[in-house]
Amino acid sequence: MTGEIETIKEYRSSGGARVFAIPLRLFPVLRGYAYLVVEENEHPPTFTLIDSGSGMPESNADLLSGIQAVGERLDRPIDFSQLHRILITHGHIDHFGGIAQLRHQTTAQVYIHELDLRNLTNYEERIVIVSKHLAEFLLEAGVSAPLQERCLELYRITKSLGRSIAVERTYEAENYCVGRFEVLHVPGHCAGHVVLKLDNLLFCGDMVLGHVSPHQAPERLTHYTGLGHYLESLSKLEAWAKDTEVAFGGHGAPILNLHQRIQEIREVHQERLKRVLAILEQPHTVAEVSRTLFGEVNGYNVLLALEETGAHVEYLYQRGLLEIANLEELKNTYRVVPIRYRRV
Ligand SMILES: [Zn+2]
Ligand SMILES: [Zn+2]
Repeated sequence: MTGEIETIKEYRSSGGARVFAIPLRLFPVLRGYAYLVVEENEHPPTFTLIDSGSGMPESNADLLSGIQAVGERLDRPIDFSQLHRILITHGHIDHFGGIAQLRHQTTAQVYIHELDLRNLTNYEERIVIVSKHLAEFLLEAGVSAPLQERCLELYRITKSLGRSIAVERTYEAENYCVGRFEVLHVPGHCAGHVVLKLDNLLFCGDMVLGHVSPHQAPERLTHYTGLGHYLESLSKLEAWAKDTEVAFGGHGAPILNLHQRIQEIREVHQERLKRVLAILEQPHTVAEVSRTLFGEVNGYNVLLALEETGAHVEYLYQRGLLEIANLEELKNTYRVVPIRYRRV
């Protein structure tokens, strides 16, 4: 990643809302956006922030300078104290971590879906619990002992950068409607992921992205995630695609043809499922399937590849398309041992 600063871009909804895409340096290798929505037709004008960055110093600085730059465009100084609400698309740290810095500077209400509430309010607890699920997953996936340690260490280090924050509101309790925003629950990438709709614009978080297919992890790590839920959510979102002009993702450029993008992402997964089935004509562990699918990868990508593969294997196994080839071995021990899957 280079150090160049991308400029703020402005869009306008069919109902007259002004939308400012604020570019953020979320992590050294990850960029993304927060969106400031200004509804000047409301009295007084309403300021809604969608997602808040990662909470890393650079991300916080970019958010602050971004809000100030929007003020210049609106010809009136604005700061965090003018925010009415902060709508979080899902409980991943790169989307909600920035709230920690805002907390003391604003009375804005924070909204999240109930299924992601604990990600924000009990962040430290979640890392402990998911680490345990992850340890078991890696063992079953047939990952070597040193690599298991490295993956768990990487998971803990990256996640330890965030902290718990208080939340005032949940979308479920608000009947999936906040001001003029309509809210659609789209679990999969995250259990409580939502897409927000304002007139002809959508704010998609990581539900659909223009440049990559959003990361999937097996449901066994966190309830209500998983590829099955994700594919159902894509269909759910399709109903909103026809009157959408621009869909803003949490990362990458805005999506101008949501219908087509949904179809492309669906095809990525169908293709990957087919490949997994072909690989599993012979019995293999998730780690072996992952290596065949993604080749040699490094650093955090090892974990991402294993989770992505795990999500696809889990999807096929849940639907009776795979069986366990080493069931006898599993029967003879209560310990967690690597599982070898085979196509039925
Ligand atoms: Zn995410
Ligand atoms: Zn993200």
